[in-house]
Amino acid sequence: MNELQRLLARRIRAEGPLSIADYMAEALHHPTLGYYARRDPIGRDGDFITAPEVSQIFGELIGLWCADAWERIGRPDPVILAELGPGRGTLMADAFRALRVAPQFRRALRLHLIESSAILRRAQAEKLGGAEPMWHEDLATLPNEPMIVIGNEFLDALPIDQKVRGAMGWNERRVALASDSTSLMFTVDASLSAGPALAGFGAAPLGSIREVCPAAARLAHALAARLRREGGVALFIDYGYFPSACGDTLQALRHHRRHDVLADPGEADLTAHVDFAAFAAAAVQAGARAFGPVTQATFLTSLGAKQRAAELSKRATPAQAAAIASGLRRLLEDREMGTLFKALALADPKLDPPAGFAEETPL
Ligand code: SAH
Repeated sequence: MNELQRLLARRIRAEGPLSIADYMAEALHHPTLGYYARRDPIGRDGDFITAPEVSQIFGELIGLWCADAWERIGRPDPVILAELGPGRGTLMADAFRALRVAPQFRRALRLHLIESSAILRRAQAEKLGGAEPMWHEDLATLPNEPMIVIGNEFLDALPIDQKVRGAMGWNERRVALASDSTSLMFTVDASLSAGPALAGFGAAPLGSIREVCPAAARLAHALAARLRREGGVALFIDYGYFPSACGDTLQALRHHRRHDVLADPGEADLTAHVDFAAFAAAAVQAGARAFGPVTQATFLTSLGAKQRAAELSKRATPAQAAAIASGLRRLLEDREMGTLFKALALADPKLDPPAGFAEETPL
C-alpha cells in the first residue's frame, strides 16, 4: 500500500468505510499526498491531455465567445472573467491572444482563477502573469460583480458518490479495507439513500449504479445565485451524458491508460463523467437559465473552428498545417472528443442563449 492508502486504511479502521466522494477528495486533494498536490498531470508526460493542449483554436474560440458574452450582458465594466480549474493556463493564454480584437472587453475584464493545485497555480502565473490574475480556492471569495465563467474539464474532477440499486432501494457504494488489510475494496452499505437524483430510476435493474455529485450541485447553486444577483454567464465543457442515466463512470487514468480506481490513490487521476442534466437542474432550481448541452463538435463548429483552422493554415508550413488539421480532427470527430464532450451554459435568467446555444436545457 502507498502512504495515502495506509492513511486511508487508518481512517477506515476508525470511522468505517469511506464514501466514494471522500475517497476521491483525498486521492485528488490531500495536501501532501494528493494527485493535484504533487504534479502537473496534463500533457504527453503526464496522465491526460485536454482540448486546449490539443489545439490553440479551442482557447481562441472560447476567448471570442467571452467577448461576445460580454456584449450580450451589457458590457459591464469591470467584469469578472473567471476560470475554474485552468490547468496550465493554456486556454486562457490562447483566449487573451484572440481578445486583441476586443480591446474594450480586454480593458474591462479582471481575471480570476479558481485553482486548488499550487503546482498548477505556478504554471498559470507563468503564462498569465501579465494579466494580473487573482487566485481563489472557490467562488466564495470572488468580488460581487457581473461575471463570465469558464470551466473546461473541471466538473469531471469533482468528487462523486455512487448509489447501487438493491432489493429494498438504493444503497451507498463505499470504499472499505480488504480483510487481509493490504488493499482497498468497494463495499455496499445497507443503509438506504433517497433524493431527487434517484427519482425516476425506480425501475433500474438490481446492481445498477447511479452517480451523484454533491459538489457539482453546490457549485451550480452558488453560480446560479451570483448570475441572478450580479448578471453574467458560465460555460462548461466536459465529457458526460445527457439525459441522466445509470452507469459506473468513475475512472482512473495514469500515463494515458486506464488504471485501477483504488490501487494507487494520489498517483492516478480520478474522474467521473458529468451528469449534465443534474448539473443544469441544480442551477435552474437556484434561479439560473441553462442552455444545451450541445456536442463539442456542434459548439466549436458554430463558433467558426473550421474557418479559424483554414485561416491559420494559410500562414503555416506543411508540417504546421498537418498539426492544425489533426488538432481540429481531435476536437471535432465523433470517435475523438466531438460527441462525448459537450458544452452547457448557465446564465442570468434575463438573458437569451449565448453564442453556440439555441435551446434551453430540456429538463
Ligand atoms: N481546464 C484545464 C485543466 C483541466 S484538469 C484544461 O482544460 O487543460 C482539472 C483542473 O481543475 C486542474 O487545474 C485542477 O487542479 C483543477 N481542480 C480540480 N479540482 C479542483 C477543485 N476542487 N478546486 C479548484 N480547482 C480544482
